[in-house]
Amino acid sequence: MMKKYEFWFIVGSQSLYGQDVLDIVDARAREMAEALSAVLPFPLVYKVTAKSNEEISAIIKEANYRDECAGVVTWCHTFSPSKMWINGLASLQKPYCHLATQYNVEIPNDEIDMDFMNLNQAAHGDREHGFIAARLRMPRKVIAGHWKSKSVRARLSDWMKAAVGVAVSRGMKVMRFGDNMREVAVTEGDKVEVQKKLGWQVNTWAVGDLVKEMNAVTETEIDALMSEYEREYDIATDNTESIRYQAREEIAMKRMLDREGCKAFSNTFQDLYGMEQLPGLASQRLMAQGYGYGGEGDWKVSAMTAILKAMGENGNGASGFMEDYTYHLVEGQEYSLGAHMLEVCPSLAADRPRIETHHLGIGMNAKDPARLVFEGKAGSAIVVSLIDMGGRLRLIVQDIEAVKPILPMPNLPVARVMWRAMPDLTTGVECWIMAGGAHHTVLSYDVSAGMMRDWARMMDIEFVHISKDTTPEKLEEELFLKDIAWKLK
Ligand code: MN
Repeated sequence: MMKKYEFWFIVGSQSLYGQDVLDIVDARAREMAEALSAVLPFPLVYKVTAKSNEEISAIIKEANYRDECAGVVTWCHTFSPSKMWINGLASLQKPYCHLATQYNVEIPNDEIDMDFMNLNQAAHGDREHGFIAARLRMPRKVIAGHWKSKSVRARLSDWMKAAVGVAVSRGMKVMRFGDNMREVAVTEGDKVEVQKKLGWQVNTWAVGDLVKEMNAVTETEIDALMSEYEREYDIATDNTESIRYQAREEIAMKRMLDREGCKAFSNTFQDLYGMEQLPGLASQRLMAQGYGYGGEGDWKVSAMTAILKAMGENGNGASGFMEDYTYHLVEGQEYSLGAHMLEVCPSLAADRPRIETHHLGIGMNAKDPARLVFEGKAGSAIVVSLIDMGGRLRLIVQDIEAVKPILPMPNLPVARVMWRAMPDLTTGVECWIMAGGAHHTVLSYDVSAGMMRDWARMMDIEFVHISKDTTPEKLEEELFLKDIAWKLK
């Protein structure tokens, strides 16, 4: 479901050097773009060695206009006087990365003379270029190092994925079935402000329309989906009727989402009028296909889930809707247990999930809903929460270390992930609560805190990172200062 995206490589120069030098710059820029395209997740397309205000303005105008262009990467092999960049940069609407690199890796001892110096002057060309972006207060990523270095390529790759997250965000449409759970605060938010900042179109559809769509699903269509379930999961229940009902829900919801171009949805157990089961397996399956989901009407976490999935590998990375449920507070082995009443994405699973059916006491569930049950993978991950502070959005990201759940919990009827928050569980909880982080999060093994920092910068929203180095004292001060800064901004 991912669109084709590419990035544009714009090299800065000027006419002063003569055509011979410009030809070399052009050939090298082409070579670099081709070599990088071969290893990066998206093509880096060399566009121009720009030498004038007109050329720069023209290419940026086109970058803004082209939907497939997810961002621009600039570099100055030679010196590019940056007043000629002002008009272009001031109109740039796409993510912007300044790659401060140079063609050669070493200073050639014998070869170096004044001609060499005139051709290879990125060290000061990129400083002139950096000044104007700083002067214009441009949100941008700066990556310095040789273009063949592994770490430069890894950082550029991460930035590209974050920039694709920006493109996906700006086109995001969320389908809401029912409103937010009654009385809950953190799942609320200013939809107009969110659309202005992040581009999300958040709108509601009647549960009755979903029921109508479900009634139109045929037994043959359900049969086909049932054989897919049998291939992908262990069926650990005799209640086939309940699984078939979830298949009906999956087909109907996917149909409505695709018809409206929505990449994310939310629902609530308090509004299932005309439905026999809260979608469990159905929502899990849709998440596995890259759709975002948020429980209890949480449209913010739903859209964020879809965005993080798009930022992961192949547009459906290991990211899913999550909720902090309960703690294991035994000294020396403190963990959070995350789950949801049904809806945990199987992209987080360590092994092949199994389908179970159980009674669900909460909400209006006439029948026992089917759901996928599994343990989450071990490994480094993050949890992400977007909250509305009133007048602005705050994105909170916490580093976590997921473990194989230390207990089998045989009577727990839902998928579960166990982790230790950074810097340690209780300090991490103190920091999270101080920052106002929600109980709902997106948990991701694929997307890093650095990528979310890039995304937040490009979206122009507040970013708070809780890491192994965070202390509650430093965080309290940071939150206080940011609150003032964002009010002035
Ligand atoms: Mn919940």
